Amino acid sequence: MIKLFGFESLLLSNIDANEYSPEYRKALLLNIILIATIAIFLFFGLYYIIIESYKIGIIELLAALLISYAMYNVRKTKNIELASKITSYVIFLALIALVYLKEASDFTLVWTVFMPMAIFISGSKKGLRLTLIFYSIVFYLTSLGIGEWQDGLWNLASYTRFVVASLFLTITIYLMELSLENAFVILKNTRSKEKLYIKQLHEISITDTLTSLYNRRYLDIKFHENFVKADKHNDYFCFFLLDLDHFKKFNDTYGHHRGDEVLVEIAKILKKNMRRKADTAFRMGGEEFACLIMSDEESKIYALIEKVKKDIEDSNTVTASFGLCIIKSYEYENFDEMYKMADEFLYQAKERGRNQIVGEVVKLSKSTKYS
Ligand code: GH3
Ligand code: MG
Ligand code: MG
Repeated sequence: MIKLFGFESLLLSNIDANEYSPEYRKALLLNIILIATIAIFLFFGLYYIIIESYKIGIIELLAALLISYAMYNVRKTKNIELASKITSYVIFLALIALVYLKEASDFTLVWTVFMPMAIFISGSKKGLRLTLIFYSIVFYLTSLGIGEWQDGLWNLASYTRFVVASLFLTITIYLMELSLENAFVILKNTRSKEKLYIKQLHEISITDTLTSLYNRRYLDIKFHENFVKADKHNDYFCFFLLDLDHFKKFNDTYGHHRGDEVLVEIAKILKKNMRRKADTAFRMGGEEFACLIMSDEESKIYALIEKVKKDIEDSNTVTASFGLCIIKSYEYENFDEMYKMADEFLYQAKERGRNQIVGEVVKLSKSTKYS
């Protein structure tokens, strides 16, 4: 948020928009125009009622009242659409009435500079259309007074100056607004592209290329996340390692390419069985995988791992050994210790003849990372 000398809420009516967004800029300009026009219409409204013309006074007070409503509306709805419309049309009608009634005396025409401001708040196209209609009417009215208004002082030269200056102001504001609108479009496109690239980069950074499972890097983050979740629900929390048996031999026999296909098949089996949001599978590297599982019952965890083991067996290509540790007590959070224990159990599974699950409910002895 930019600082506006402490007038932020007055000028922006607390519209929650990004500092660089067109909405933010429009809200800022609209509020400046609202405050300025209310003050001017109110002042001259009272002035005319007291000193000069009752008619002009009423018009100006009415304009002040309507624009005050626009100000109230933008604060209530936090939407600038209606307020922009009211403001543009009120300025449009009030100024035309003023030009008509005052006949260019007291430099009344000076106030028409407010009309092109509609381009800022209504957008280049709509604002330009409204301003050009406004000036067409004003130029017509003022042309009627050439040689007559202000005892003839309002002549062709002053009329020409007024027309040229007004059109120049209008075109300048229009071009400014148009270039800003284009810049915002380019900025918006660039931003959304950047967002997409960042998202894609993030996906790549946490995904294993071959199997599309999450990679080892993401396990560190996910472990903490799931640990906290399991602790909250007082669930069993399981970390297991899965290592394919005699995979070197498989590769040597069937070739590396077939080996890769098997790794993809294993990943599919894991994904199929880890469908719940609470369960996540990772490829640790090579032919080693890992999973995080949460469950309210210990037996459900074993059943799930048995199912994975069986699905691998049923694929008739390879078998796998599993080392797992489960925790139920959340006094400590220690990924390294859990990993070490699962690895030891996996080693035991290999020792005992492979194609089996070894593991138990354990207690972590001390916290490392996240405590
Ligand atoms: P063990 O049952 O004791 O785990 O025996 P193993 O042969 O599976 O274990 P070892 O660690 O001796 O060999 C792992 C093999 O995994 C070596 C390599 O050929 C294979 N491997 C590792 N990464 C990949 C991979 O990305 N693609 C393929 N096709 N093979 C891989
Ligand atoms: Mg192996
Ligand atoms: Mg291995």
